[in-house]
Amino acid sequence: MAKVSEIYSSINKIAPFDTAMDFDNVGLLCGDKNKEVTKALVCLDITRAVVNEAESSGCELIISHHPVIFNPLKSLPCDSVPYLLASKGISAICAHTNLDISPIGTNAQLARKLGLAAVEMIENEPIAVGILKYEMSAKNFAKHVKEALGCKGLRYTDTERRIKRVGICTGAGGDMLYKIADKIDAFVTGEIKHHQLIAADNMGICIADIGHYRSEFIVCAPLASMLSSRINSVEFIVSHADTELTEYI
Ligand SMILES: [Zn+2]
Repeated sequence: MAKVSEIYSSINKIAPFDTAMDFDNVGLLCGDKNKEVTKALVCLDITRAVVNEAESSGCELIISHHPVIFNPLKSLPCDSVPYLLASKGISAICAHTNLDISPIGTNAQLARKLGLAAVEMIENEPIAVGILKYEMSAKNFAKHVKEALGCKGLRYTDTERRIKRVGICTGAGGDMLYKIADKIDAFVTGEIKHHQLIAADNMGICIADIGHYRSEFIVCAPLASMLSSRINSVEFIVSHADTELTEYI
């Protein structure tokens, strides 16, 4: 058993909450820092299904990547997630943009999954650049990404250029393309807009849009195991709830 505050401190050591971006909302967003925790659920999003999963599996705390409260609340309906958390006495710690730039965070995990070497995190930005072991065509690169992440499908753009240098930005990272365009042959992100695809194509850069969920869910298991190794009096489990929500036909 450990207090919510001890788990908060442990996360703060590897992904300091004060490194989150200004627009963000991170930290203990719901609950009691003095409450004792025997079991904690690690997830990407806190949905009603995830709150029910936490309750049925005996978790007093949920640790999520996406903030359970982002915009200021003007009301608190009884079926809203913050209300459900409070009524069931479940606390929520959210590590968002501070986790994106952490050495064990979303971008670091994506680089690891893709097998990138010489990975360089761009300072104060949730972006990394790394090198593939073997140069390959854009199509083969897209296949490699799909397999490495177990994507049901992904969108990519073809290019003449062989792919060796890869930029990554998990989540909605389309805009980050411009910051590293001169360093990369391909850019992997969770969400990209049409005008960003056009810009990338003009620059001869291959885009792999893997979906927001696939780009970030990969952080949950390493985060749970890191916390288990630091606080062995608490059981950390990864949520089974499917918040990808997207099907491909
Ligand atoms: Zn995200």
